[in-house]
Amino acid sequence: MKRTIRDLKNIENKRVLLRCDFNVPLDNYGDIIDDTRIVSSLPTIKYLNDQKCKLIICSHLGRPKGYDKFLSLFPVAVSLMKYFPNKVKFSSKVTGKEVENMVANMKGGDILLLENLRFDSREEENDPTFVKELASLADIYVDDAFGVAHRKHASNYGVALKLPNAIGFLIEKELNVFYKAFENPKKPFVAILGGAKVKDKLTLINNVIGKADTVLVGGGMAYTFLLAEGIKIGKSIVDLDLVDDAREILKNAKVNGTKIVLPVDHVALLGEKVVKTSELEQDMVGLDIGKKTIQMFTEEILNAGQIIWNGPVGKYEDKRFRNGTMQIAKAVAKSSAYSIVGGGDSVGAINTLGYADKIDHLSTGGGASLKLMEGKVLPAVEVIDTL
Ligand code: ADP
Ligand code: MG
Repeated sequence: MKRTIRDLKNIENKRVLLRCDFNVPLDNYGDIIDDTRIVSSLPTIKYLNDQKCKLIICSHLGRPKGYDKFLSLFPVAVSLMKYFPNKVKFSSKVTGKEVENMVANMKGGDILLLENLRFDSREEENDPTFVKELASLADIYVDDAFGVAHRKHASNYGVALKLPNAIGFLIEKELNVFYKAFENPKKPFVAILGGAKVKDKLTLINNVIGKADTVLVGGGMAYTFLLAEGIKIGKSIVDLDLVDDAREILKNAKVNGTKIVLPVDHVALLGEKVVKTSELEQDMVGLDIGKKTIQMFTEEILNAGQIIWNGPVGKYEDKRFRNGTMQIAKAVAKSSAYSIVGGGDSVGAINTLGYADKIDHLSTGGGASLKLMEGKVLPAVEVIDTL
């Protein structure tokens, strides 16, 4: 068991460095388009603030190369001021004398948000000098940045090794959800796997086999499996070097009692024309699952006790190939199963299609949730003390 903020005692007036994931989408005016990531961090911030510690919060935003005024965390500070009136200050520097002075002037119950960590290139390099500067600002370190927990950066890996530490409520919840889903799944356990490439999802598929009762394979990934079965895939996306692996996976699944369901029809592109077909001819590119496949998948989904979904089942960004993902989202929303959706594009699709409130757990981290579904340990969690 990892130490959580509930296990931190007597932190009144102590300096606590909290790593959040405030990587929110901004529009051209610097306004926050979607504040999900801020809202998801509030329980931890509120809990620590109630303990009257001096709370120093840090985060990254986007992928700046050096200072970039369009990627300042100031809009996030403004948002936090709404939730914690008169308590929040913003530091335009990440580390250094100015920040140290601001921290020295903090009182218990104050909140200080530091500027975008990635304005300093040493953050992503996990540079020891940057780790030292960050660690010197605080007495205790708390990590609640689930979205980057699969990375080893200064603010979530290096610093954790330097200070007494704990995880916040968001990371705790994400870990519990995925742990339980794989260790103690509600049956039947149905996994929906999609996305573009088998290569990205090989470890995930292997982890699901033997644990899930049924795996529904859609998206670009399906074509490598179909080819492995000797089915024509036209010009659809395929990982040719993984056809043998796909065949092995299909065999393994049979041995381990996991049923794999592949698409039986498609929405495809033939030149400029969109066609619906159960057989992909030579020049066709499969870009969405067809009606019969949707029906087959829906039946499994409505019958499930637990659903894990990673990867859209079609090229959903294009309206012409969105129906499959939309119908699957609808079915998952309708199903009484406990539902988990993880993956950047998968969660994006659920939000775009308006089914977010019908899903039991929408993961806040794409890459990090993928790692958990692969059964891997997250490096930033590994460095947190155990109880
Ligand atoms: P996630 O981010 O949820 O893990 P991925 O990144 O693995 O998902 O996959 C999402 C991408 O897969 C989307 O860009 C989508 O357009 C693409 N995709 C889905 N189906 C197909 C297909 N049949 N052909 C090509 N690309 C596809
Ligand atoms: Mg993606």
